[in-house]
Amino acid sequence: MAEPRWDEEVDLLVLGAGAAGMTTALVASLEGIEPLILEKSEQVGGTMSTSAGTIWIPGNEPSRAAGFEDSAEDAARYMDALIGRPDTAGLRAAYLATGPEMLDFIQHKTDVQFVPSGKHPDYHDMPGAAISGRALAPATFDGRLLGAEFRRVRPPIPEFMVLGGMMAGKEDIPRLINRFKSPGNFFYAGGLFLRYLTDRLRHARGTRVVMGNALAARLFHSLRQRGVPIHFGASARELVFENGRAVGAVVTREGRTVHIRARRGVVIATGGYGHNASLRRQFMPAPTPPMTVACPTNTGDGIELGLRHGGTVQPQFQGPGAFWTPVSVTRRADGSAGVFPHLSLDRAKPGLIAVNGAARRFVNEADSYHDFVQAMYAAHASAPSIPAHLICEKDFVARYGLGAIHPGTTNLGRAERDGYVVVAPTLEELARKLKLDPQALRATVTRYNEMARAGKDLDFGKGEKELNRFNGDPRHEPNPCMRPIEHGPFVAMTVWPAEIGTSTGLVTNADGQVLGQDERAIPGLYACGNDMASIMAGSYPGPGTTLGPAMTFGYRVARHAAGRACPLPAGV
Ligand SMILES: Cc1cc2nc3c(=O)[nH]c(=O)nc-3n(C[C@H](O)[C@H](O)[C@H](O)COP(=O)(O)OP(=O)(O)OC[C@H]3O[C@@H](n4cnc5c(N)ncnc54)[C@H](O)[C@@H]3O)c2cc1C
Repeated sequence: MAEPRWDEEVDLLVLGAGAAGMTTALVASLEGIEPLILEKSEQVGGTMSTSAGTIWIPGNEPSRAAGFEDSAEDAARYMDALIGRPDTAGLRAAYLATGPEMLDFIQHKTDVQFVPSGKHPDYHDMPGAAISGRALAPATFDGRLLGAEFRRVRPPIPEFMVLGGMMAGKEDIPRLINRFKSPGNFFYAGGLFLRYLTDRLRHARGTRVVMGNALAARLFHSLRQRGVPIHFGASARELVFENGRAVGAVVTREGRTVHIRARRGVVIATGGYGHNASLRRQFMPAPTPPMTVACPTNTGDGIELGLRHGGTVQPQFQGPGAFWTPVSVTRRADGSAGVFPHLSLDRAKPGLIAVNGAARRFVNEADSYHDFVQAMYAAHASAPSIPAHLICEKDFVARYGLGAIHPGTTNLGRAERDGYVVVAPTLEELARKLKLDPQALRATVTRYNEMARAGKDLDFGKGEKELNRFNGDPRHEPNPCMRPIEHGPFVAMTVWPAEIGTSTGLVTNADGQVLGQDERAIPGLYACGNDMASIMAGSYPGPGTTLGPAMTFGYRVARHAAGRACPLPAGV
């Protein structure tokens, strides 16, 4: 395309105000170059703002200072064992070398702050895996610091909030549930409720934000402090090239066409293809999962743009094309359907099994969300396993919650009327309602109960992995993840495969430069976040597997574009 008359000129044009895009722009600004972010929606945050916000940064200093020893070498061994393919392009090495540096840089120079999660095991027990020291969580953020601009932070999904707009972090949940059990909890919960009520006088939701929403708000706040512009309602339609180098973009902004020149390059960070039906069919296994938890504006624009301009994808090296989670479908107050991800709160607790269409277990229910869905697909080859059903006693729901149903819930009437759960006095009746074979379900539960009493899952090893026990109930013995399911009423919830993020993206080098068919970098064109082919190649090593790389490669991209590229690790 011939060089147009430019309406605007910046150093670095960043497409997408999500985890990767905002990190890139923030670092670019700190490195002394002038970034501009184009955000397609009217809010920042993308999928990050609805996420847990955990980042996986092996060998990070804050965790070490808090007494959790870890090393990047161990993490490299673990990744090699898990991923199984050699790190020929050096992207894993670059990630491990740069992750701690990115974290130090950003924590020292900006308002983006993390707290070491301490114990938070990797998802597989393998050589080099760690139980603690790799995961960090965003520090709670006070949305009032953003004033009226707080409305620009995309909110979490309604199911992650209580009272219609109050966020509760992992540490808050037990204190809120047990608020009448100790004076400390009572005052803590009272303080949260009071703050929330005061917030609602001026804001559409609570301003005490946690998890991924805190990360989004902190990145946004830091960008505003540095005066980095974000154009909302703006997306790049085409890229402009000059002598083979990306030098700008043709942008649609609030219905108008604008030409923006980018002296140092264009960064594609539009969050992957979660809402692009055609790419889902191409990159994901069959049957293509009908649901996604991704931000609705993540429609694969960046990947399509990159492909149109010489970039490549290699789905053959990206496993299932996505980072999975099982989801249940809720009915929201306004009658619309919601998608609730079953990440860590229910599946590992004792007294729940997952069964497929043959009424058989097919998975270690306490494994990671990614592995749970992998097992759904594997089982589906021999018996219908998509969707599957979580089965437990009604008491389980009261004790631990189930999906979007909070712990402490004893009346399932509304959830049952909404079709969110199926309830029956006997297992046989439950099976009939689910159109399963009653005898097969009885046999499955009988076998499970025998193993639960002995505390050993001979079929799937539930409760044997660090991760299983971490998410189980430590008060329950001998196996924190297994308790017999014997007293009705019984409850079932249907779960489907969906993804928290897509993993097939544009192939890049370690500086996030998009590679062409000839495997050479396309000058001036970068990709990061879920628009970049995941370095995990279809596996999910631990908590923070997508945000850790999104921020780390965002940092590397910004440094490269600023002319201060991070060194490549030795041997790459
Ligand atoms: C419930 C849940 C929990 C999760 N928890 C974690 C976790 O704890 N740790 C972890 O590592 N991952 C987690 N994830 C996954 C993680 O949130 C995503 O993988 C991550 O946000 C991807 O970052 P990104 O920058 O690529 O995209 P996003 O954060 O989704 O941002 C993309 C942005 O680009 C914008 N955009 C789209 N198209 C265009 C366009 N054409 N032009 C301009 N802008 C555009 C979008 O509107 C959006 O704002 C979780 C996800 C979910 C749903």
